[in-house]
Amino acid sequence: MITPDTPVQFLKGVGASRAKVLAEHGLNTAGDLLWFFPYRYEDRRHPTRIADLGRHLDDPVLVRGRVISAHAKVSPVKRMKIFEALLEDESGGVKLVWFNQAFLSDQIKRGDRLAVFGAPKLSSYGHLQIEGPDWEKFEGDEEEEGSIVPIYSRIGNIPPKALRRIVAQSLEIVPKIDDPLPESIRETLHVGPLAPALEQLHRPPELTDEFLYRRSPAHRRIILQEFFTFQLALRVRRATEEVKKKNRRIRIDDSIRDEVRKILPFKLTRAQKRVLKEIADDLQSPRPMYRLLQGDVGSGKTIVGLIAAMIAIRNGHQVALLAPTEILVEQHFQRISQLLDHSVVLAKATGSATPSERRTLIAGLRDGYIQLVVGTHALLEEKIEFKSLGLAIVDEQHRFGVEQRQKLFAKGETPDILVMTATPIPRSLALAMYGDLELSVIDELPPGRLGIKTAVRASSQLERIYKFLDAEIDAGAQIYVVYPIIEESEKLNLKPLKLGFEAIRKRFPHREAAMMHGRMSAADKEATMQRFKAGEIHILVSTTVIEVGIDVPNASIMLIMDADRFGLSQLHQLRGRVGRGQRKSYAILVSDVESGRLARSGRDGRSPEQERLDLFAETRDGFEVAERDLQLRGPGEFLGTRQSGVLRFRFGNIVRDHELMERARDTAIDVIDRDGVARADEIVRRLLGAEMETARD
Ligand code: ADP
Ligand code: MG
Repeated sequence: MITPDTPVQFLKGVGASRAKVLAEHGLNTAGDLLWFFPYRYEDRRHPTRIADLGRHLDDPVLVRGRVISAHAKVSPVKRMKIFEALLEDESGGVKLVWFNQAFLSDQIKRGDRLAVFGAPKLSSYGHLQIEGPDWEKFEGDEEEEGSIVPIYSRIGNIPPKALRRIVAQSLEIVPKIDDPLPESIRETLHVGPLAPALEQLHRPPELTDEFLYRRSPAHRRIILQEFFTFQLALRVRRATEEVKKKNRRIRIDDSIRDEVRKILPFKLTRAQKRVLKEIADDLQSPRPMYRLLQGDVGSGKTIVGLIAAMIAIRNGHQVALLAPTEILVEQHFQRISQLLDHSVVLAKATGSATPSERRTLIAGLRDGYIQLVVGTHALLEEKIEFKSLGLAIVDEQHRFGVEQRQKLFAKGETPDILVMTATPIPRSLALAMYGDLELSVIDELPPGRLGIKTAVRASSQLERIYKFLDAEIDAGAQIYVVYPIIEESEKLNLKPLKLGFEAIRKRFPHREAAMMHGRMSAADKEATMQRFKAGEIHILVSTTVIEVGIDVPNASIMLIMDADRFGLSQLHQLRGRVGRGQRKSYAILVSDVESGRLARSGRDGRSPEQERLDLFAETRDGFEVAERDLQLRGPGEFLGTRQSGVLRFRFGNIVRDHELMERARDTAIDVIDRDGVARADEIVRRLLGAEMETARD
């Protein structure tokens, strides 16, 4: 009797050495084998007659026959080892050719019966042949003839057929399997029970298109189980590791509304109003807020955050605004001081504070005298205590992690958390990355913004670009020049930047130019930025340090060198630094991919890189850029590889299957609301148990 826990060595055909190989691939028990799915299938019910191969040129088909001759030789032209076999069925013969697989001469012999799967091609001499086909031997009667055969990825040197027999034995336990998803959840997810799904994935009755596209009911069952497990685990973690309730009662009355109206220098856009309502609802709810506010650069997130801050402050709580760099802290501090005009006690926390300033700050936060503090992540340090932190706003950081969130919670009052980012994350990804965050999107720019003209140019055109810059500077404009140096990189090589800066200085001897990069001290960066803001610098040559949140309305040209080395989303961020004032603005992407020098062959003669940049130049909306970026680079590249690891699912693809992810998320929320956290936790454990028991890979 085989059960899910039966070790693989008790299966027929598995001795000690095969058991070891299977274990190396995470397959320890019969249950594990059930979750070891075929990666493709072969329909061996309908082999193609060799005489008919001509009708299937370049189209992979199954052919069955007997080997009439087989030999290895060296190709005279390419000096490559070739193994050739002639395969014959009752209708005719065809040549099979394998390159650089001389060892096949030990495995394929005259007289063998073979099933081969591959695409017939015309050789350079004009005969039909099949190159490098998948092949398998038949010995005597073959039970697999006339069936759909699952093809599993290779495990060590276990022959495919033996492996199939081993896995097939595990299918015996399918009827006895416990479904980790209770029926009520299956209903909400719109999926069927697990057992038939597993059975079908190993032994599909038909290879329908839906099945081959991995969207059959059986596939959906697995996809949704995995998505749901992921979403529920996120929610359970959020609900258990952190506090479920907050003790604040937040009210929004007319006096607060009046005050907000007074500080508003403009009318909010419709999108800002909508998002503000979502945030206000969260603030008043008994559950702590954890919301991601996305909005394109310049969409006006700051004021929304500030109004949320006013609500918390007027209800007697403190607010912290966290920004990633000192420059941004300074910028927020100045802007907020202007807007609030002393109606709130405002403080700034930066690394450059003197010890006595720091003491005052610490005391002010502890006593509750300071109502709003703007600072870097230094605010998360243990020494900093708040009397009553009600709201934390995290600006320009879409990767605000669990750890940082816990540090905030450690500040004692279960603060509401609002994370703001201008990095548009496509919905599909946001859902997969942050199933436990609520999402708000400002999808509208304030009125009256001038468009940013985006152009892609080759470096051979630099002189023309420089002439244009000269004319614009004469007209009063300021310019950013950015080099593709990734600031996070450990081997920060500033040479290209320095050379670039020298070249700019030489070309523009009568202009004021300055350089900025991440190696400079905060104070130096700050000073440079202040000079740029004050208009004392015409050309700021820098790395991507200027990427986030900087607001210099008079800077109207963004010149990006080697633009093809940036991701589209990053280009979009850079482009967002201009177009913030009254001046007509430009983003100029310099890339030699455009000149065709690096171009690979592509449709209509454009290289993929070229298409990518051209696409970018045509697209203004950040979400659209992000969506394209995601499609072009895939989630791994888009997120950076470290982040994407957790988002790997068996059949589920977070981009293609985002609706299913949404359904999984909604169901997870449902389960927690309806059955409570303890029960949800139990379900997660069962799901993860089922997974761990079966897939330790
Ligand atoms: P971001 O979303 O990139 O952080 P900001 O909050 O810095 O954008 O806003 C960009 C600029 O737009 C600021 O100068 C701000 O004062 C202005 N702004 C924001 N909302 C509006 C609005 N509703 N009408 C007009 N100007 C606005
Ligand atoms: Mg901002």
